[in-house]
Amino acid sequence: MDYRDTEEEQRWRTEVRRFLRAEAPTEYIDEHIPAVDTYGLGDELFQGWRAKVAKQGWIAAHWPKEYGGAALSVMEQFIMKEEFARNRVPHPGGRQVEMVGPTIILHGTDEQKAELLPPILEGEHIYCQGFSEPGAGSDLAALQLRAVREGDEYVLNGQKIWTSNATSCNWMFLLARTDPEAPKHRGISYFVTPMETEGLTVRPIPDMAGGAELCETFFDNVRIPAGYRIGEENRGWYVAMTTLDFERSGIAGAIGLQLNILDLVEMVKPLPEGSPDRLELAELYLASEVARQMSYQVAALQDRDEVPNYEASMVKLFSSELSRRYATSAVSILGLAGQLMAGSHGHEVNEGRIARYLSGSLPSVIAGGTSEIQRGIIATRGLGLPRG
Ligand SMILES: Cc1cc2nc3c(=O)[nH]c(=O)nc-3n(C[C@H](O)[C@H](O)[C@H](O)COP(=O)(O)OP(=O)(O)OC[C@H]3O[C@@H](n4cnc5c(N)ncnc54)[C@H](O)[C@@H]3O)c2cc1C
Repeated sequence: MDYRDTEEEQRWRTEVRRFLRAEAPTEYIDEHIPAVDTYGLGDELFQGWRAKVAKQGWIAAHWPKEYGGAALSVMEQFIMKEEFARNRVPHPGGRQVEMVGPTIILHGTDEQKAELLPPILEGEHIYCQGFSEPGAGSDLAALQLRAVREGDEYVLNGQKIWTSNATSCNWMFLLARTDPEAPKHRGISYFVTPMETEGLTVRPIPDMAGGAELCETFFDNVRIPAGYRIGEENRGWYVAMTTLDFERSGIAGAIGLQLNILDLVEMVKPLPEGSPDRLELAELYLASEVARQMSYQVAALQDRDEVPNYEASMVKLFSSELSRRYATSAVSILGLAGQLMAGSHGHEVNEGRIARYLSGSLPSVIAGGTSEIQRGIIATRGLGLPRG
């Protein structure tokens, strides 16, 4: 297989590189300061960078031009993500650009598009995702949060859980049950709502890293205008499952991980020959190269207009399990100091980044579909084994 750029792709890569060299904050490129997250509220460095990417027109890489997107092809998106990742620069899109915006573009009315898309591009509406509930995670269609139509409004009662960044987002997209009698996938509708709505409360869940990004959200007679239902009533499951054709190879994660492994090698050099740590680093690097090659494979599929299906599950499974292995190996190689977070009186290694990475990598095998669920998809759709 030939992974070399065509002449056109090479030109595009050069354009992205030039932009990054000229505009990206040196804190990311040279000082390797990681972005706090891809939403970055209250992070001035990130917001300044976001404004530059927006001015360039690259915030919504895959949206059509008529809605303010860059209408990039899958390969152009891939190259852009690859170059951002190689320079350790975050792409400031986020859930609203990757998930809600495309849903509104495909299923929204003209009024909804006019009202809801521009604030996403401007960075004014930052969305959290209200899908999971205490009894509905892997089996998401079992969700029970109830929405009852009353005139021009829906009244919502129930609870969501694991709502990432709910305290720092000002909008939410969510799934609610509008027909409890229908088969479970067919009684669900898709809504958006401002977080500042009467009856909607957020309770952060403290985590082991001392943060509280994950939250519970409670709905107590929350009234949402019917105009904030996206798509047909009771078709929300299918609305949520459709996306615009965005690049989903996981290339940014693969390159980020490879850079982290190389950083770790620099930190622990020289390791004596025969040291088990030396062998583990070689294994990790090999696996990261596999992850990178798998990303190329998924991008190539998409470039041929094929939909990655179990292949995307393979990338998610392999990459999230690998990031967990890297993090646990790194803290083990670095010794006890590797487990210290930033602010540990100077005893922490690399400003506590390894410990922070560890705390982020552990839940990555759960978020967005657990490893068991990904293995199930590979078994049924990839290997043709029967369900159940
Ligand atoms: C860091 C993080 C961020 C998240 N952010 C959000 C968010 O912003 N919004 C949101 O809505 N949700 C979010 N989630 C929730 C996430 O989608 C769910 O945690 C995930 O889908 C698993 O659901 P669950 O926690 O209910 O576990 P369960 O589905 O109850 O699973 C429990 C265990 O059983 C296994 N299991 C379940 N079903 C099967 C099966 N069929 N075959 C084999 N094994 C199975 C699972 O793999 C798991 O080990 C987040 C989760 C994490 C960890």
